[in-house]
Amino acid sequence: MTFFDNTAMQNHESIHKFHDPRTGLRAIIAIHSTALGPAAGGCRRWIYEDEAAATRDALRLSRGMTFKNAMAGLPLGGGKAVIMADSNEAITEEGLLAFGRFVESLGGRYITAEDVGMSVGSMHVLKKVTDYVAGLSPEEGSAGGDPSPWTADGVFLGIKAAVKHRLGVESLADMRVAVQGVGKVGYDLCRQLHEAGAGLVISDVNRQNLERAQADFGAEAVPVEQILSADVDIVSPCAMGAILNAQSIPNIRASIIAGAANNQLATEADGQRVFDRNILYAPDYVINSGGITSVSLEYEGGKTEADVRAHIALVPGRLTDIYVASDDKQLPTNVIADAMAEQIVADATL
Ligand code: NAD
Repeated sequence: MTFFDNTAMQNHESIHKFHDPRTGLRAIIAIHSTALGPAAGGCRRWIYEDEAAATRDALRLSRGMTFKNAMAGLPLGGGKAVIMADSNEAITEEGLLAFGRFVESLGGRYITAEDVGMSVGSMHVLKKVTDYVAGLSPEEGSAGGDPSPWTADGVFLGIKAAVKHRLGVESLADMRVAVQGVGKVGYDLCRQLHEAGAGLVISDVNRQNLERAQADFGAEAVPVEQILSADVDIVSPCAMGAILNAQSIPNIRASIIAGAANNQLATEADGQRVFDRNILYAPDYVINSGGITSVSLEYEGGKTEADVRAHIALVPGRLTDIYVASDDKQLPTNVIADAMAEQIVADATL
């Protein structure tokens, strides 16, 4: 895989690999597109098998951010950072500062925020050495802070739009939803679904998170390998990617898949598989754009929580446009969404 092989690189503008000899920190920042604005996307800290796996993840996620930001109508391009962790131990302040200096060295072509393995606290450390960071604690009422509750808000609205489109009902009161992963986004989503009267089936590899959601929302817990095939109306993947694949799709009993996880389809062909089974799939990067919307408005400055809420209220309409086009053209929703996003980026490049 060479950089100028654009099949593997998916037309990325640049990829930056950093090593800090003092702390041993290894990080990759992939910039897919700056057509719509500076490339923005969170920083993921993860234990990768090797550099190739970390590079693949950075490229995949950063391209997804271009599509996500375009479809959310944000003035941002797509980028993503990954930090190659050596262990599950928390990153040191020195490590974070080294990463912050890497971000700063790109002069604003890339804006970072939190993703898996990073926190609001991590962003405050980065802020000591770079201004190209968002996801910081906001002043009362201002946009900003942990993006997760905003992501959950968008997913909740997106589930309602899917239910209305596919099942023709406004209320979630008689719905059963299987939520895979009840971490930051999944837990908040369960709260909203529970308040709306939906029945919940959940799974999580983390016992503490599982028991918390069970206790707080009376959710039924099932083993992790049973969640996608649960007897429910909606499956909401809120854990990891690539869970919709040739093995899992034939066993799904729900008629709607709508959740927060990034890159839910293992391959493009899996979008077709879902479509062929007549399951309505909410394209992940459209339904989960609430968090980056908060990040974007925080970075812009002078924006309030009400501004973020108003922006996220547009998510269901965008999804419905995709569903209608998918029905009309008889094409999978992921294909429709990709074409729409590519068109937005192409128009900005003219
Ligand atoms: P998180 O780490 O807080 O929660 C993920 C949960 O999934 C954890 O409780 C974890 O134990 C659980 N999990 C992991 N593997 C699992 C498995 N095999 N089966 C069941 N549960 C499993 O992360 P989060 O911030 O809630 O994000 C959830 C997903 O949504 C991720 O894919 C993330 O990339 C995506 N996402 C998050 C945001 C955000 O604002 N946090 C925005 C966009 C997309």
